[in-house]
Amino acid sequence: EGDLLFNQVSFTYPETGVRALNNVTFQVAAGERVLIMGKTGSGKSTLLQLLLRFYDPDTGTISVNKQSITNADLLYFRSQIGYVPQDSFLFSDTISANISFGKIGCDRAAIEAAAAAAAIDTEILQFPEGYQTLVGERGVTLSGGQKQRISLARALVSSPKLLLLDDSLSAIDSGTEQKIATYISARLVGTTVLMVSHRVPVHLIFDKVIVLEDGQIIEMGTPEFLLAKGGIYKKMTEYQQQ
Ligand code: ADP
Ligand code: MG
Repeated sequence: EGDLLFNQVSFTYPETGVRALNNVTFQVAAGERVLIMGKTGSGKSTLLQLLLRFYDPDTGTISVNKQSITNADLLYFRSQIGYVPQDSFLFSDTISANISFGKIGCDRAAIEAAAAAAAIDTEILQFPEGYQTLVGERGVTLSGGQKQRISLARALVSSPKLLLLDDSLSAIDSGTEQKIATYISARLVGTTVLMVSHRVPVHLIFDKVIVLEDGQIIEMGTPEFLLAKGGIYKKMTEYQQQ
C-alpha cells in the first residue's frame, strides 16, 4: 500500500565512518507526497537508499505496511518501487528498451504512456527512429533533462506503489515540470511519493516537507505550517522567488 515509517533510524557508512543519518523518525501515509530538502551531504540520498535496502540501518527500523522491510522479499519489495537516482543511467540501447527496463515484458502502449507521463514523448518522436533510436556512444546524444525524463519514464512504466525521486527534475524547466506535476497529481493516485529536491518545485503539491541537516530532521510539517513557522523552508522558498 505504501504507508511507511522510519523509526529512530541511524546509519553510518562503514567505509568512511560518516554518520549519514542520525535518529531519523517520520511517518508517511499511503498516497502522500513528501518533499525532502537539505544541503548537499545532509543525508537525503542515503534516506532513499535505505528504503531501497541498498543498505540496512545500524539502529532503528524502516517499516512499510507496518512490517519491517528487512523481512520482506527483496525482489517483490523492489518491484513495487519506482526509483529515479540522482545520476540517471541509460544503457547503450534504444529509447524503448531503456524505458521498458523498468518493467520487463511491458508493451508498446505502456512505454508510450510512461514517456508521455514523463513529458518526453514529443521529443522522442522527433528523433530519427523514434522509440527505436539508439542512445549513448553509437546513438543520439541526450541533454541532461532528456536523460532525467527517460529515467523517470522507466520508473513510471511499472506503475509503482512507491515513487522515489532523487533530485530527478533538477535539469527540467518549469513548463516541463508542470506537465509532469499534472500527471503525478492526476494519475498517480494512491502512489506514495518521496521527492528529494534542492529547490522547492513550483508545480507540485506536497502533504509534508522534511528538511534534513547533518543527517537529522530539523524541520517537518505541511508546507503551510512551515511557511507560517518561518524557518529554513520559508527562507529557501523566499530565496528561490528572488
Ligand atoms: P545528500 O543526498 O543530502 O547530498 P548523502 O546521503 O549523499 O547526502 O550523503 C550523506 C553523507 O554520507 C555525506 O557526508 C556523504 O559524504 C556521505 N556518503 C554518501 N554516500 C557515501 C558512500 N557511498 N560512502 C561513504 N560515505 C558516503
Ligand atoms: Mg544526494
